[in-house]
Parts: sequence; C-alpha cells; structure tokens
Amino acid sequence: SREIHLASRPQGKPTLDNFALVEATVPVLGPGQVLIRNRFLSVDPYMRGRMKDAESYVPPYRVGEVMDGAAVGEVIESEAPELTAGELVLHSRGWREYAVLEATKVTALRPQAGLSPSVYLGALGVPGLTAYVGVLDIAGMQPGERVFVSSAAGAVGSLAGQIAKLRGASRVIGSAGSAAKVRYLEGLGFDAAFNYQDAPVGESLALAAPDGIDVYFDNVGGDHLAAAIDRLRRGGRVAVCGAISVYNADSPVPGPSNLSLLIGKRLTLRGFLVGDHWNRMPEFVAEMSGWLREGKIRFDETVVDGIEHAADAFLGVLQGDNTGKMIVRLD
Ligand code: NDP
Repeated sequence: SREIHLASRPQGKPTLDNFALVEATVPVLGPGQVLIRNRFLSVDPYMRGRMKDAESYVPPYRVGEVMDGAAVGEVIESEAPELTAGELVLHSRGWREYAVLEATKVTALRPQAGLSPSVYLGALGVPGLTAYVGVLDIAGMQPGERVFVSSAAGAVGSLAGQIAKLRGASRVIGSAGSAAKVRYLEGLGFDAAFNYQDAPVGESLALAAPDGIDVYFDNVGGDHLAAAIDRLRRGGRVAVCGAISVYNADSPVPGPSNLSLLIGKRLTLRGFLVGDHWNRMPEFVAEMSGWLREGKIRFDETVVDGIEHAADAFLGVLQGDNTGKMIVRLD
C-alpha cells in the first residue's frame, strides 16, 4: 500500500519536497478492526496548519509519518460484526491506499442514487455542514439580507452562497481568483461576482454591493475581511470560517486596520469550527439531500487521479486550482 508522509515542514508556500510517497505493508487485522480500500481522499486547506509544528485545534502532522485526512473507501475485510466487506465508509485515515481502523471509528455510508460516494467529502460532508452552520447559525442570516462570500468558487464557498440564496437572501455576492471562476459563480446563481486579483477588494465589493452587506462569510481573511467590515451595514455579522490568505505566512500578519468600525456599526465577528456543530448533521443532511436531488444546489469537484498526485492536489487547493471540492480519486 502506498501512502504519503510529511517529509519536512514547509517555510512559506509548501512544495512537493515537503511530501514523500512511501510503500508500506498493510498490518494484519486484529479483532474489531476493518481493512478499507480508499477510493476518494480529501485534501483541505486546514492541512496546511497541521504541517506546522504548532499546537492548534488539531495536532500537527509528524515529520516522517503518514498524514491523516478524511477518506471514503470500501471495506474489503472485516474482523468486526458491525461492518461487512463491500460496505462504503467514511473515516479519517486518508493520504493512503489501504487503511486499517477500529470499526467503531468508521462511519457506514448509504450510497446516494446518481451521486459519487465522494459527495460525503463535499456537499454532504464537512464542507457542506460548514457552509450550512456558518450561514444559518453563526451569521444567523435572515431572508432579505445581502450576503458576501469569499473563496466562493471553492467547496465551502460555493455551497454557502447557494444556501444563502435558497434561504431567501436578497443578494449574494462572491469573490474568486479568476475570470473563469467569476463566470462559474454567475452560473450558480450568484447575483454578482468579482475576481479579487483585478482590483483592490474594497473597490470591487463597493461596486458589487452598492447598498452594503448584512452578512460576510469569510474564508479568506486579510484584505477581504477589511473590505467586508467597510461595507457591512449596522448590525451586520461575519461568520469567520477560514483565513486562507494567511495560511502560508510564517509570522503573524497584521489584522484589518478598520476594526474600530465594529463599534458604531454594532458588528459581530464570530469564529466557528464545524466540529462543534455535529448536532446539526441530521437536519443538514436531510435538507441538503433534498436540494441535491431536486437540482437546486449544484456541486462540482476537481478530481486528481492517483495517490502519487495527492500532494499536487493539496498544493493545488492552496493556490486555487480547484473549482468546487478538490478530490483525489484512487483507482
Ligand atoms: P476551497 O475549495 O475554497 O479551496 C481553497 C481556495 O482558496 C482556493 O481554491 C483558492 O481559490 C482560494 N485562495 C487561495 N489563496 C487565496 C488568497 N490568498 N486569497 C483569496 N483566496 C485564496 O477550500 P474549502 O472550501 O475546503 O475551505 C474554504 C475555507 O474554509 C478555508 O479557509 C478553510 O480553512 C475553511 N474551513 C473552515 C472550517 C471550520 O470549521 N471553520 C471547516 C472547513 C473549511 P481562488 O482561485 O478563488 O483564489
């Protein structure tokens, strides 16, 4: 079985040298364990944080050891009564072709008609729940409000914008890093979209939101957050989901210089971690499955084939090679 190890810790932007493809032997199954052939691996921005030697809400990866991440696979051998060979499962031992785990640490999945099993790493998985909780619970978006989403052509952002629209937002604006992504957002039903590379974010946002915004779903931080604070109306709310513009920084980056506006405008900035909101999973899955079935939500993937390209796929997410969710498909 081949697996990806952290070869060294990156300085600034990671490179392929930070990863190693290693051949490993699959351990013999013990009682209560299952052997899984991974079919889809998730590569996600938060993994950049785990490459640093710093305690965070998830422990750092260790140099010379296999990395972890979400994966969807098929049970091929089972020493546990609750799982049988052939079942589709979600688990946390990604970045490898074969995984051995306790059956209790694995979630059995129901295949969804017409959808790839990888949907559990995207629209019906963590990115979907993050978008749902962020828009509805953290930002508390109300019908009729104006919403701005950054990294809007990505996994979380594309869903956040569409959920906002389905739940009655009067105007949804998205930013992304290319002209093709701007067209993609228009196709998804965003009312306005701009390429943040074309002009200062504040200028583009002011043009796209002449009457201001009520909610900002922040995936990016930095200039995007400062621009949103400028444009937010009184009582506006920010769901602080991610800050990808600073993930490669080796030292702290200065924050927005306009935070004093929070006072007069009575703004709320609220950070959140999806892991604290698993209780919303049943409602989320019910509503999202309906939206997907009825074609009300469109969700795309950028697929990279082969474990030997998993590191490229991850580096690709950090620099915007993906539209929708970046997925590594194993044959
Ligand atoms: P995406 O699919 O959105 O992929 C990341 C995207 O970030 C890239 O495609 C790229 O798109 C964009 N990007 C990269 N660098 C910059 C930059 N300097 N400025 C602006 N955009 C940039 O990833 P996810 O949907 O998985 O995650 C989105 C965000 O949500 C991340 O910040 C992630 O950390 C966060 N997150 C937070 C969770 C939580 O519990 N709080 C849970 C899950 C995700 P482009 O071409 O547009 O630049």
